[in-house]
Amino acid sequence: MQQLDHQFIDSRWVSSASMRRLPVMNPYREETIAEVTAGDPHDVDVAVAAARRALPAWRALSGAQRAVYLEGFADGLARRRDALIRLSSSNNGKVLAEAGIDLDDAIACYRYYAGQARALDERQGRLVELEAAGVEARCYHDPVGVVGLITPWNFPLVTSAWKLAPALAAGCTAVLKPSEVTPLPERALAEIALEIDLPAGVLNLLFGDGEGIGAPLAAHPGVDKVSFTGSNRVGEAVMRAAAERSADVSLELGGKSPILVMEDADPEQAADWVMAGIYFNAGQICSATSRLLVHRAIAEPLYAALAERIDDLTLGDPLAAGSDMGPLTSARQRRNVQAYLAVAEREGLVAVRDASHRRLPAQGYFVAPTLYRDVPTQSRLWREEIFGPVLCARSVESEESAVALANDSDFGLAATVVSGDAERARRIGRELLAGSVWYNSEQLVLPETGWGGFKRSGIGRELGPWGLSAFLAVKHVVGPA
Ligand code: NAD
Repeated sequence: MQQLDHQFIDSRWVSSASMRRLPVMNPYREETIAEVTAGDPHDVDVAVAAARRALPAWRALSGAQRAVYLEGFADGLARRRDALIRLSSSNNGKVLAEAGIDLDDAIACYRYYAGQARALDERQGRLVELEAAGVEARCYHDPVGVVGLITPWNFPLVTSAWKLAPALAAGCTAVLKPSEVTPLPERALAEIALEIDLPAGVLNLLFGDGEGIGAPLAAHPGVDKVSFTGSNRVGEAVMRAAAERSADVSLELGGKSPILVMEDADPEQAADWVMAGIYFNAGQICSATSRLLVHRAIAEPLYAALAERIDDLTLGDPLAAGSDMGPLTSARQRRNVQAYLAVAEREGLVAVRDASHRRLPAQGYFVAPTLYRDVPTQSRLWREEIFGPVLCARSVESEESAVALANDSDFGLAATVVSGDAERARRIGRELLAGSVWYNSEQLVLPETGWGGFKRSGIGRELGPWGLSAFLAVKHVVGPA
């Protein structure tokens, strides 16, 4: 078993004074595959100081110079592709295709922000059109400073790329804290930083949990901005900590996203989108479309097509080529999801497929893919994020009631519309309160389109130019012309 005792600070692997060790699991084998020393608040102090020392020189580089390092991260990840996919799959339980998406989307993100860093040079010092005669104003985009980046376990490489790539492109220096559940894939970022001679202190990686690293990082007076992806409970604590010093935050939080299937959709095609929206990554996606609203006219054929597809899913070793769905990422997450299945039983929900329909593999934190129909809107399963392979469905009478029910949620991260008429699907999309709306597709996330939520799904946007703006402060230099 690997013993990982070091933090990555100032471009060196340094030991932590902390004696606390955290196990890192393989969720399929139910085995500890590594132990990580949990960093402590002293490590946060040292890392933040290193990031602050590195800031003046890093922000003084041109965007084009910083772009070279971002390309370096993309190339470094691409060189490790096979090994990282297997590592990520072993630590996370993702099947190989899902681990490949995590990696490839991360690579695309570093490359995209290399382009954005270069484009930033052209935006610096632009003259502002002024009506007042005799005054000249120039607009600059400065980095916000030292940033704390905190990521979850479900897509380790991509969630860190969405923060780190724009932060470095903007000229910020960073302290990144991966989830303690999946710290292995993001260690590659430290190796790559050394390979590409990233200036010391520009990227620091701290391994540990919320108590030892996350909370002290969010509360640190030397951190100018915190960008967080994770649960609402923790995100709100991060926001409170930042509020104590009026620091900026971006939050990417939970979701309970709807998928609307209209009466003009082909039920077989629609079933493919519904499946992709909820059982991908065993449902552990913030943007999982976990509430199905299907028009009454095609509800029965759609449920039948879904039942068939659910029965066809192969659950098994995530490293095996034939597996469609791996285990959940932790025993804790399995307990969370099983608690919802127990609620479903107590509430007497009608199952198209529940846990009793399937024998699970003998090992691994598996949960059977489940589908409940006619779920009351007041049910906890309808309203709360489950973060597992649990789909709740209701039939609707009309487009209007589908939209009203879709929007009746505390969350607003994503939504999908399936219709035989693409124009209609786009029009319905405009009515939905969600940061990303897909039509006749699912989970299409591109570096060019923004990512983030309405309502309790978060604050701010990642990806696209908005992701870069999140790490920039606008400054005007104004004087006589
Ligand atoms: P989590 O909130 O438990 O943990 C997220 C990160 O916060 C981890 O690194 C954790 O160590 C750290 N943390 C824990 N306590 C902390 C504290 N007090 N202060 C600061 N940091 C602390 O979430 P998770 O279980 O890792 O991830 C699942 C959640 O993430 C789900 O709710 C999911 O919807 C959300 N998520 C959202 C998006 C998005 O883009 N909106 C993407 C992925 C996951």
